Amino acid sequence: MQQIGRFAPSPSGRMHLGNVFSAMLAWLSIRSCGGTLVLRIEDLDPDRCRPAYADTLKRDLEWLGLTWDTEQAPQSRRSEAYREMFSRLEERGLIYPCYCSRTELHAASAPHASDGTVLYAGTCRNLTPEERAARTKAPCWRVRVPDEDVSFTDGVQGEYTQNLAHGCGDFILRRADGVYAYQLAVVTDDAEAGVTQVVRGSDLLSSTPRQIWLQRQLGFPEPDYYHVPLLIAPDGRRLSKRERDLDMGALRERYTPEALLGLLAHACGLLSHSEAVRADELAKEFSWRMVRKENIVIANP
Ligand SMILES: [Zn+2]
Repeated sequence: MQQIGRFAPSPSGRMHLGNVFSAMLAWLSIRSCGGTLVLRIEDLDPDRCRPAYADTLKRDLEWLGLTWDTEQAPQSRRSEAYREMFSRLEERGLIYPCYCSRTELHAASAPHASDGTVLYAGTCRNLTPEERAARTKAPCWRVRVPDEDVSFTDGVQGEYTQNLAHGCGDFILRRADGVYAYQLAVVTDDAEAGVTQVVRGSDLLSSTPRQIWLQRQLGFPEPDYYHVPLLIAPDGRRLSKRERDLDMGALRERYTPEALLGLLAHACGLLSHSEAVRADELAKEFSWRMVRKENIVIANP
């Protein structure tokens, strides 16, 4: 089967070292098996994304030699497709409006999901039509999840299981302002592009069961997942976009593309020592078995 992978950057700032690392592995995984890569700009959230960043992201990927074959329409222009998937779920009675305020959601006793977010208590799950009609606030829309385990085998992290009811609860598919949730957008986009493998940071591992469950509800095929280790500072903090010396603006002043790829390839186990290397040279030897699964300490990039 022809493999299709994707770059799915969010234009909320300049790429940083962690994004480069995920993009490099997505590229190597696809190029090493002769597949194709789709670029998709994930600009779903109008408050956080800027068109100018999308152009910079593309220039930065090109500078690294991480090429793509086709480009999918950006998420900001695909709300019609998301609306259709939302309607399909709605017709099956899986969606309901939620009127809870932030304070209600974060009540002191609220249990927390595996990723640290507050587990939704199901307050609005069974409101009567009269109770709904009495509300004046614009609701967000949640999907009813079953008390059921979703399991998959991750290509890096191994077996992963989450009970949706206890691990995340009924989650939001459309915000009160009409913006569709990332979970719905990403499964819709991946299915449309025929994506067969998803490579991304292990911080997203706990959201994958939600996406797999949505794929099953919508009759979409399930791609293979590879959740790659995170880059962390020596004190255990995750390297983030706030560290300006690790964004591509600063990195491009200090490294050649080959030196930067070599540093990352060495850090994750693809090279025995850090040396300048082109992406296509790495692809010749690439195997997921070589990639370590533990988070990677970056001491002095
Ligand atoms: Zn509610």
